[in-house]
Amino acid sequence: VKEVRVIGGGLAGCEASLQLAKAGLKVLLFEMKPHKKTPAQKLDGLAELVCSNSFRSNQTANAVGLLKDEMLVLKGELLPLALKAQVPAGDSLAVDRQVFSALVEGRIAQEKNIVLIKEEVTTLPVDDTPTILATGPLTSPALSQSLVDFIGAERLAFYDAISPIIEADSIDMTKAFIQSRWQAGTTGGDYINCPLNQEEYQSFIGELKTAQQFKAHDFEEAQYFEGCLPIEVMAARGDETLRYGPFKPVGLFNPHSDERPHAVLQLRKEDVFGQSYNLVGCQTRMTIPEQKRVFGLIPALAEAKYLRFGSVHRNTYVDSPRVLDSSLRLKDQQGRSSNIYLAGQITGVEGYVESIAAGIIVATILIDYLNQKPLRIFPAETAHGGLYRHILGLNLADAARSHVPSNVTWAMIPPLLGKKKQRAARRQALYERAILHMKAFVAGECSTSEDELNL
Ligand SMILES: Cc1cc2nc3c(=O)[nH]c(=O)nc-3n(C[C@H](O)[C@H](O)[C@H](O)COP(=O)(O)OP(=O)(O)OC[C@H]3O[C@@H](n4cnc5c(N)ncnc54)[C@H](O)[C@@H]3O)c2cc1C
Repeated sequence: VKEVRVIGGGLAGCEASLQLAKAGLKVLLFEMKPHKKTPAQKLDGLAELVCSNSFRSNQTANAVGLLKDEMLVLKGELLPLALKAQVPAGDSLAVDRQVFSALVEGRIAQEKNIVLIKEEVTTLPVDDTPTILATGPLTSPALSQSLVDFIGAERLAFYDAISPIIEADSIDMTKAFIQSRWQAGTTGGDYINCPLNQEEYQSFIGELKTAQQFKAHDFEEAQYFEGCLPIEVMAARGDETLRYGPFKPVGLFNPHSDERPHAVLQLRKEDVFGQSYNLVGCQTRMTIPEQKRVFGLIPALAEAKYLRFGSVHRNTYVDSPRVLDSSLRLKDQQGRSSNIYLAGQITGVEGYVESIAAGIIVATILIDYLNQKPLRIFPAETAHGGLYRHILGLNLADAARSHVPSNVTWAMIPPLLGKKKQRAARRQALYERAILHMKAFVAGECSTSEDELNL
């Protein structure tokens, strides 16, 4: 029997271990708890949800709802356990975290092919045994150092600073305009500019400075990098700081009012399909309602629909587009693929459900590889396929852009062709298309080959 090592008994590691074991592989699962815990963990068991107890929306109009429904098609192991541990939460799937962790621990214990070894792994095991590294956003310091030694310090991040992403359709283009700085004309360009007059700017800054923020965990007291300070930290340095930083109006001209704006928030295209835009320089710790309220004071964003909210938190993740190959294996500093596969939040997906999905994705790849089958990639039309492409930076409008962790969003999935539908009908059609493709993938009738990816 072929043997696989999995490091990290969190969400991705447990899901991947169970998938591998079901496929007849022997799994050595390493988890450092209960001997050693990350600063966010409280329970002793496997698969601990460290903060909220929610697997988010169940609605098919929501990309995370689709991701979960795809998991049922894929016979995911953790989602049915979450459904067993469910507590009432309206349209969302929330669980009792102790019950969930105990159910996962029980399921792992039942599986004869899994040997659970409760110890910390301190060095990256680069040898002939395929290894899945799934140690999560708070990977232990010794192993993080070993990872840095392997891929290079500039390829591992310890914090993320994320700007919100909004739906292209929700930007009010009667107020915003497309233009690049210093561009002669007023129609072309890569950026959408959201102008503010002096009064609007002052009101925005005033609200930004007093908006409610997420409370940081003690271990998160951030050492911010100057290049990606939260927007409220910049605003606190002085009312004009943003106007000399990301909101600078220089080189821009507002064709709607025939004047130079007082300040401008720029929006940068996020995905290759042009479905989403990133609020440049707006990484923030504001709470979600406050992000909607405060960014909504920018006239062009009054009705903005958010695909991802901003955040700044402690998070260990690699620069996946540059350090992973198409099988999600780590490459060394000379670009040679190793036997170490990555899964979970450490790849740059964000969220409980996405981390479980990344466990399924990598297990599928590894099972095929060990069975000497060619690499099968989840179809682009599915949420799992979208996450895989996000990990490798294949959906980014600009491939050179840095890799930023993300939840699953509809912008990761190609839009529908043909006549434009209303939002709800569009989502329903995308959902149905994805489930059909996922069923076909499971039946072996539909997948993307490595050549088709154009890596
Ligand atoms: C503070 C914080 C709060 C978060 N809150 C949420 C939230 O509310 N909702 C949400 O959807 N997402 C949240 N996330 C994001 C993320 O999705 C979860 O952390 C998720 O659990 C990640 O899954 P994972 O499998 O990648 O890692 P984890 O679930 O963290 O699993 C990694 C496992 O590896 C173990 N480990 C680490 N190092 C070693 C080692 N060297 N040797 C052996 N074992 C090791 C850990 O003990 C852990 O059990 C949060 C993240 C953080 C850091």
